[in-house]
Order: sequence, then C-alpha cells, then structure tokens
Amino acid sequence: MAASLVRQVLNTLPRSLVMKISGLEEIVEGGLCAGCGIGESIAGRDVVEMDTTMDGRIRPYNKKSLDQKTFNQIMQVCPGVTITGPAGKHTCPIHPIWGPVASLHKGWASDEKIRFHAAAGGALTALGMYLIRTGKWIQCSISRLQMQTRH
Ligand code: SF4
Repeated sequence: MAASLVRQVLNTLPRSLVMKISGLEEIVEGGLCAGCGIGESIAGRDVVEMDTTMDGRIRPYNKKSLDQKTFNQIMQVCPGVTITGPAGKHTCPIHPIWGPVASLHKGWASDEKIRFHAAAGGALTALGMYLIRTGKWIQCSISRLQMQTRH
C-alpha cells in the first residue's frame, strides 16, 4: 500500500521533480521497484543484477556504477518512475489499494515449470515467451515505433 501511495504522489509531481532520482537504489528504497529487471536488461548483468532481498523480493543492485546515459535510458522505461494511468474520471470501481479495477481475471501458465518458477503463476511470463517464440513481439515493437515516429 505504501508503494501505491508513493506512486500516486509521484504522479502528481512535475516530471522535472521526478527525474531527480539519482540511482536505482532510491527507487528500491522508496518502495517503487516492481522487480521487472529492465535495468539489468539495459545495463547488462555485469553492471546491474537482480537479486533476492532478505524479505524475498527480487530487486536490482549495482555491481558497478551506472553511466548517466544508461541510467537515463533505464529511467525512460522503469515502471517505478514511469507508470501513469488514464487521464480523467474512472468509470470503474476504485479499490482502496489496487486503484481502478475495470475487470479481474485469474490465470496461470499451463507449463508447470513456468507456473512454479515465474511470479504470480507465470501467466505474463508464458505470454511473453509466446510473443518472443512467434516473433510477434517484434511486430508489436515495430508497430509501436511506427506509431511513435508518425507523431
Ligand atoms: S527497472 Fe525500475 S522497477 Fe524494474 S527492476 Fe529496475 S528499478 Fe525496479
């Protein structure tokens, strides 16, 4: 709940203030890290590595200091600082902890290896693997890039 509140507060701040975050550890210590591993993917495991904390969360830690360019790239996509919601009034119920809930679904990976090793039953991991195996993630990325370059 604390992370949700911090996110709500951050979303009300001007972007220039949010960008004053100077390291991944601030995101982790602030309870904003989603444990997605994007920082490790961008910087490389020799610079940032995901590890399990004492309380069982998977969080990044710096093995080497990040150069500014790489840090800026991570900040462009890190969900700990970039998550935004739709503007305007919500037309669905607002849960006090989870926020607006338009619909709720239960699911898990049918592959037991994925289901028991990935987070939350592996549904998103399985979907991601499907997109990568079928090459559809490339199509999605290209479509998104084309949309961005049209604006
Ligand atoms: S990119 Fe952000 S949310 Fe994802 S693991 Fe790194 S610090 Fe956490």
